Amino acid sequence: MHILIANDDGYLAPGLAALVQACEGLGQISVVAPEQNASGTSNALTLSRPLSVFLARGEHVKGFHVINGTPSDCVHLALTGLLPQRPDLVLSGINNGANMGDDTLYSGTVAAAMEGYLFGVPAIAFSQAEKGWGEIDAAAAAARAVIDQVLALGPLPAAGQTPFLLNVNIPNRADAARLPRVVTRLGRRHASEAVIRQTSPRGEVIYWIGPAGDAREAGEGTDFHAVAQGCVSITPLQVDLTDHASRSHWAGALATGAAV
Ligand code: MN
Repeated sequence: MHILIANDDGYLAPGLAALVQACEGLGQISVVAPEQNASGTSNALTLSRPLSVFLARGEHVKGFHVINGTPSDCVHLALTGLLPQRPDLVLSGINNGANMGDDTLYSGTVAAAMEGYLFGVPAIAFSQAEKGWGEIDAAAAAARAVIDQVLALGPLPAAGQTPFLLNVNIPNRADAARLPRVVTRLGRRHASEAVIRQTSPRGEVIYWIGPAGDAREAGEGTDFHAVAQGCVSITPLQVDLTDHASRSHWAGALATGAAV
């Protein structure tokens, strides 16, 4: 088996090394990761300049392919020419902080996995619920437990078959690998906090994007609820943004031609 691992926190992030280490023994591992922290870059591709790749040499990162681009760039390059063969599985993470509810739309971690999924490769994104890398080795063990369960289901979807995309959030706990694993739906967050306005040392007005809002829809069945209950949350994702429920409303209101 050949596994491609990427992340959005950059190739030096402890969560990446921990995930790579946790996958030991599963087969051939290729790591392609951004040079810089690229959290919050969603599915962005770099189209305005070329991308460079170098092989990392330091401890814990030896042999990682490092790209001066986004998480999606990393997986895109890996699947379109950088790697000699198609991976059987794409993994992303482990992210420094939760990717629940609306986070999934902004997340580079989820996007890296999604890039694999869009190319037909099954993919799993892993995030720790709290920032700071607390109990990262336990989170990696929990990730490995999920991967082992997935692999035990049978052969992974091959090229031409329907892939899957799983979004996994893991509580920062020493017993993470033994916590109940529950399948959830995405919750929703309140709108972000207000932008933070400051004056730079050169007297310019500057702005920082504010922190994400708190959970708004966090009821039973959601990822927020599962993690708050001390469970590992596993949400199957899809990419269809169509609002199917309102199609007939908009057809009545706007359409001037028959459905095609
Ligand atoms: Mn991140």
